[in-house]
Amino acid sequence: MKIQRDSLTGLPQRRDYLYLVNERLNQKHAGFCMLTMKIDHFNYLGKWYGRVEEERLLADIAAFFQELINKYEIITGYMEPDTFSVFFPADLAMAENIRHSTTQIVKNARDSEVFRPIFGGFILRDNFSAGAADLFEYTINAINQAVGTLKTNIFWFDEGLARQMLEETELMPKVAYGMENGQFTFYLQPRCQMSDGRIIGAEALVRWLSSTGEIISPEEFIPAMEKNGYITQLDKYIWEKVCQVLQRWQKHGMRMLPVSVNVSRRDIQEMDVVQVFAQLLEKYNIPVDFLELEITETAYIHNEASIRETEQGLRRLGFKILIDDFGSGYSSLNMLKDIQADVLKLDMRFLDMSRENFDKGCNIINSIISMASQIDLAVIAEGVETLEQSEMLSALGCSFAQGYHYYRPMPIAEYELLLEDENNVALSGITNRKSGAAYLRDLAQYFAMVAEVNPFTGEYHFIQCDDGFRFSSGVRPDTITEYIESSIESGNVHPDDAAGYLRRTGMAFIREKLLSRTLRILYDLRIKRQNSYQWYTFECMQPKNFSLEEPWILFTWKQAHADASRRIDSLTLMHRMFVLVLKVNARNGNFEILHRDRAAGLDIYRNSVSAAELAANFKSHYIYPDDRKAYEAFTDRQAVLRHFGAGDEPMRMKLRYLRRDKYVLCRLEISRSIEYSGGRPVVLVTLMDCHAL
Ligand code: C2E
Ligand code: CA
Ligand code: CA
Repeated sequence: MKIQRDSLTGLPQRRDYLYLVNERLNQKHAGFCMLTMKIDHFNYLGKWYGRVEEERLLADIAAFFQELINKYEIITGYMEPDTFSVFFPADLAMAENIRHSTTQIVKNARDSEVFRPIFGGFILRDNFSAGAADLFEYTINAINQAVGTLKTNIFWFDEGLARQMLEETELMPKVAYGMENGQFTFYLQPRCQMSDGRIIGAEALVRWLSSTGEIISPEEFIPAMEKNGYITQLDKYIWEKVCQVLQRWQKHGMRMLPVSVNVSRRDIQEMDVVQVFAQLLEKYNIPVDFLELEITETAYIHNEASIRETEQGLRRLGFKILIDDFGSGYSSLNMLKDIQADVLKLDMRFLDMSRENFDKGCNIINSIISMASQIDLAVIAEGVETLEQSEMLSALGCSFAQGYHYYRPMPIAEYELLLEDENNVALSGITNRKSGAAYLRDLAQYFAMVAEVNPFTGEYHFIQCDDGFRFSSGVRPDTITEYIESSIESGNVHPDDAAGYLRRTGMAFIREKLLSRTLRILYDLRIKRQNSYQWYTFECMQPKNFSLEEPWILFTWKQAHADASRRIDSLTLMHRMFVLVLKVNARNGNFEILHRDRAAGLDIYRNSVSAAELAANFKSHYIYPDDRKAYEAFTDRQAVLRHFGAGDEPMRMKLRYLRRDKYVLCRLEISRSIEYSGGRPVVLVTLMDCHAL
């Protein structure tokens, strides 16, 4: 082969250099060193100081190499505009000579940190075989490792790294093949409430069923894929698979608990995850509550705008976000304050719980749990392997756990079997851990004030109003706008906040938002309490059962910076205005009273053992005789099952019932509960006086 030389440097170019090196390797396959040099920011040299300067530097370097070639057994190549490579019998003194001299040459041309030469080297020993192209790639890899540091301008790639790289490169085509041939699936690892070990949800963990039939653990391929970016493909693939399973569960009316998927930092950097997840929900028609997202803590360290943005976007879609691997070393407790997530996964495997450091470990866990609870962040302990660990965690106030002590990751079918037994399953997951009356009490305390508002007429009434919070007095204004204006006029709203407040509570503004389906208005304002202004967050939201016939939305006010309102199901919030709220399993008639207004004097529960009996008692004791027939038809179990089997529109009827000593008109409504599934058709039955509407 005739060797072509670069006209400026007189050195062989890439292809010819590699050819020459291979030729040498054919004679003797080890005992060589390859050193590659790249001049950092070389392209700026020409741009800033002109082509002449650039060419002079290249020529100086080439002259130095020519000198070496004449003296020693050495091959040199000009690989890229800014890159030279040298191949010579392994000799560290020679390597140092080259490093030192060329650094000096570059410095003479431009003494600036900007144009630093960076070297990557590889020594080829006896027990390792590699071709010229491999060697060159190793040196380039070494350069890439050195670029980030200012301490040294040379980096040696060693055999360990080379082997790893080799394995990784060999792995990737297999991964690609595996993905095309459906070799990837996921296992589910349940997570549990610690009090009784019942399951609240599961995490999807990828598994690779290789061609040889063995199951390969993610630890063997995820890190490499995270490095080369391939992970985004795999993650999308797994997310889709998870959605398919969720869709199947939903379609077959199987019991459903949320499943979380892992989201890598690369995913966030390289694709529009918000859009991807929005599309998945739509494509598979899955309620957002069933898909949860685990983002690893390390994704947060750099505090990049992109992750904040993504997080916000995902939350806007309604996703619950779990911070994965909290405690893996990078986290500071302070970071918790800035995080918008819902759940923290605290990984026991990252904590040093050895005997001598046990107390310290406990302290760390304790502070994480208490800090998290202050900002209403649930904690799941992960990697819980022993009974002792689980007892210690419970004692420290942790309520949820995932780990071998409870369940190992398992195939999907096995998980499904597990859920079939009602005893294994917690009825409510993390968000609805507070149930029934206690939950409502919490809610009531949480908000200073809650009003239902009709955005078309401005009518309003208060569902909740904290005693110390009456910032309006005198005659009750007719509309919410007048109410707000009067509270501004009386000086109860800080003057600086008045205009913004008025605008956001204006009916026209809200109607416009309603039509664009983005109703969720937040505004922080100062309200006078006990003679000083305090920050409150006003929030307007649209209840789940909003309809144009019954266009009621909610205005809420709460002390600012408490964040839990986002997690509240507005429907539950409205229980307070109901006379009666029941949760009923429409199949077996089991029921639970979530709320009842004692003032209504309904006394029908005492001896009812099933919902049917309760309905019959209610009919004979309270319902106006003319309405009984319609009521009977309306509450017929089969009819209810049929109705919700076909869709999730709530059922409504009006009827008269005996309240204390007179008949009043009320609205009876049956709707699917959040827990509704075909296998367990749980509905909510609510009774609301019409004068409250
Ligand atoms: P991770 O997200 O922290 O997942 C939990 C890992 O801990 C799982 O390992 C699980 O099997 C293991 N584990 C659970 N309980 C215990 C326990 O009590 N003791 C011990 N020693 N280990 C326990 P797995 O399935 O091998 O996954 C390893 C890692 O691979 C995961 O760690 C996650 O970072 C990554 N990974 C798994 N699936 C995916 C995926 O679909 N996408 C992405 N991006 N990463 C994934
Ligand atoms: Ca995870
Ligand atoms: Ca984890």
